[in-house]
Amino acid sequence: MRLHVAVVGGGAVGVTAAHDLACDGADVTLFERDELASGSSGRAAGVCYSAFPHAVDAANGRRSLARFRALSESRDDFEFTSCPYVWFAHEGDTERCEGVREQVTQMKAVGADVSLVSPEALRAEFPALETAGIGVAARCDDAGYTEPATYVRAMGAAAREVGVSIEENMPVRLAESGKLRTPTETHEFDAVVLATGVQTKQVLAEIGIPIPMKPYRVQAFTTDQTPVSEEIPMTYDATEGFYFRPRQGGLLVGDGTELFERDPDDYPKDADEEFVETNRARVERRVAFEPAVSRAWAGMCGATADFDPLVGELRDGLYVACGFQGHGFMRAPAIGERLATQVLGGEGIQAFDPRRFRGDEEFEIVEGLS
Ligand SMILES: Cc1cc2nc3c(=O)[nH]c(=O)nc-3n(C[C@H](O)[C@H](O)[C@H](O)COP(=O)(O)OP(=O)(O)OC[C@H]3O[C@@H](n4cnc5c(N)ncnc54)[C@H](O)[C@@H]3O)c2cc1C
Repeated sequence: MRLHVAVVGGGAVGVTAAHDLACDGADVTLFERDELASGSSGRAAGVCYSAFPHAVDAANGRRSLARFRALSESRDDFEFTSCPYVWFAHEGDTERCEGVREQVTQMKAVGADVSLVSPEALRAEFPALETAGIGVAARCDDAGYTEPATYVRAMGAAAREVGVSIEENMPVRLAESGKLRTPTETHEFDAVVLATGVQTKQVLAEIGIPIPMKPYRVQAFTTDQTPVSEEIPMTYDATEGFYFRPRQGGLLVGDGTELFERDPDDYPKDADEEFVETNRARVERRVAFEPAVSRAWAGMCGATADFDPLVGELRDGLYVACGFQGHGFMRAPAIGERLATQVLGGEGIQAFDPRRFRGDEEFEIVEGLS
């Protein structure tokens, strides 16, 4: 019997899950309340790597990179660029310097392609990167970047090609088990996958199910063309707490994390002036170039009580995927794939089982890159 599955949410996770479910024979309808990529995926920086200290994350990172690269080779509407990811702490920041060393040891133990690198070696390889004051640095070579919205649209197109029906401008609400309500109709499905990102808490709250996930705001900006764009790695400064990567001849710069919960449907969508000015100056010190800001924005990420996402079956036939702590795009291909497998009777990701919580746990939001 062909399984009828609803995927709610047209972000990176939803389109991947919908595509994979249809490839494996399910009859899939994807409902998106707005347009594909109108949520966090369309506002993300597109930094991708497999540098994680836990085996499950490293495996998901590697699998996602493999899928990004394969999609980039097979379609001309999606491009993924391999690029090393470098992160470091400043001299004198003993705690974070030690943290970088420990991370590399842990990441190596789970098979990640990472190593410590001296500031001199970094400077020799990337002459445009100012390495003065760096105490401890590390690099991951299994890494790269893309424009996240292009992944969602390309995977959405691929999903349509394998028979997924995609209904945009179609907000849905959960009704009783297996049922969804659109503004005009009630539909019944064998399984429902809620890939509704930071809205997941609200969608579930409407049917009385609490989850320990808090939406929080982060920020980013892009710059005009710079002479250094192609000569720098993707870079995270752990001491100052910001990152940048090459983007279309310029740079994309991000962080500006707010450590408090926000309403995901009512938050300031422009970046704060202070965030832009502070980080423009920081970037200028690192690349010896004064970048002109071309666009600045804010978006939402989701934090959980234990830093791991909630992915899997929450109630019979009701699956969720949210709470990625700012690392959801780079893991989305693998997470969507595993969700599809689980819906079709295979194994999910045990460490992310959403039923490990009661739902009403109290916790503080922790910055995703820390
Ligand atoms: C500025 C910024 C930078 C980031 N940078 C990175 C990065 O470099 N690397 C990385 O890995 N991650 C990054 N992230 C995090 C990343 O964006 C998210 O973790 C990821 O995109 C989540 O994907 P998703 O598919 O779960 O959610 P989303 O992309 O948010 O998709 C959910 C979709 O569900 C829809 N929806 C919600 N409610 C309903 C409803 N009731 N009915 C129908 N549809 C509904 C929404 O409209 C939305 O399109 C960044 C985030 C931001 C904001």
